[in-house]
Amino acid sequence: MSSPSLADRPIGVAVLGSTGSIGRQALEVLAGLGNSHRVIALAAGRDADGLSEQARRFRPPVVALVDPFAPRARDLPSGTEILGGPGALEALAARPDVDLVVVGTSGIVSLRPVLAALEAGKVVATANKETLVAGGHLVMPLARRRAAEMAAERPNDPLASPLAWIRPIDSEHSAIWQCLAGERLAGVARLILTASGGPFLDEPDHLDAVTPEAALRHPTWRMGPKITVDSATLVNKGLEVIEARWLYDVEYDRIDVMIHPQSVVHSAVAFVDGSLKAQLGIPDMRLPIQYAITYPERRPSPAAAPDLIAAGTLSFRRPDEDRFPALRIARAAGRMGPWASAALIAADDVAVARFLAGSLSFTGIPRLLEDAIGRFGRGTSIGPGVEDLESLDSEIREALGPTVEDSR
Ligand code: MG
Repeated sequence: MSSPSLADRPIGVAVLGSTGSIGRQALEVLAGLGNSHRVIALAAGRDADGLSEQARRFRPPVVALVDPFAPRARDLPSGTEILGGPGALEALAARPDVDLVVVGTSGIVSLRPVLAALEAGKVVATANKETLVAGGHLVMPLARRRAAEMAAERPNDPLASPLAWIRPIDSEHSAIWQCLAGERLAGVARLILTASGGPFLDEPDHLDAVTPEAALRHPTWRMGPKITVDSATLVNKGLEVIEARWLYDVEYDRIDVMIHPQSVVHSAVAFVDGSLKAQLGIPDMRLPIQYAITYPERRPSPAAAPDLIAAGTLSFRRPDEDRFPALRIARAAGRMGPWASAALIAADDVAVARFLAGSLSFTGIPRLLEDAIGRFGRGTSIGPGVEDLESLDSEIREALGPTVEDSR
């Protein structure tokens, strides 16, 4: 088994989704880490020019353009091979010279490469929500198996923990992971996920008429459009609740959401003795990305520590689930099981695309989610396999995509 902690060469990194927001920031982090890490593989969807530029800078042995309709990548450096097609992600993730796979890709397309990476003994650092929301029941047992194997061999190795194999990049989950360092699950009372509340926390009174432009103006975080809209509806937080349930093996009853508009406290853990640990930082994704890459080490990063005096007041309040019903809907989907949470996340992709295209209202988003869970979210204890999840995803896209009503 290849182990990044034992490597006598630079740690080989594959970045999936390298031209997206997470991928670009991951490459910035990797550039700052110098010789300890080497970019081995980059994969993008269809941004051929962006990928070529990254290839010229990082000189990886291999790159991939996954979208079959992507334009050709021009001016690749000599020595960089290019792969194409959907199987390319799995091929990159399982390469012998790759130790760590950073997943910045969105969509269910990430699930196969994540499973392939874990099967092949690679560490996964993921920002992809489908991996856990739809595939948590497939991914976590593998991560646990890898950790158990390491524990049997070397109980004190950092890789003797499932979270060292499936490392969260999301700021909230990184915060909880950091709070849990050195702790035992038995000591955990509650997980507390913080949420900025998005641009519509207090106004306008009625959310039916809010525009995509307004939804894309996030008050604290700079992110891609999908996740920015998800933050405005609080769907994002609902998905994070489901991810937390899988990552930390804590039941839904013990996962709280708290609105914290300043986004300085990234999340917290309450322990059975009444102690509460929180992780604080400025809203800069490079910090959780770097922690996931260098764990268990901490290295200097471009992110400055938060200035608590400048921050002044840090405030917290309960979320308003009447105003933002998506949070309640997501939690209910999580409780129903993997079919329902897979339906939720696929439907949300459709809903956000339609909202951004102007064919669905802001308040139509949670309605569409509830509808999708009702139609597609079987409440069975038998979780869907990878193929089931992929066909569910296409079925939902077909059923809920733009309709004639939209053009009215
Ligand atoms: Mg987050």
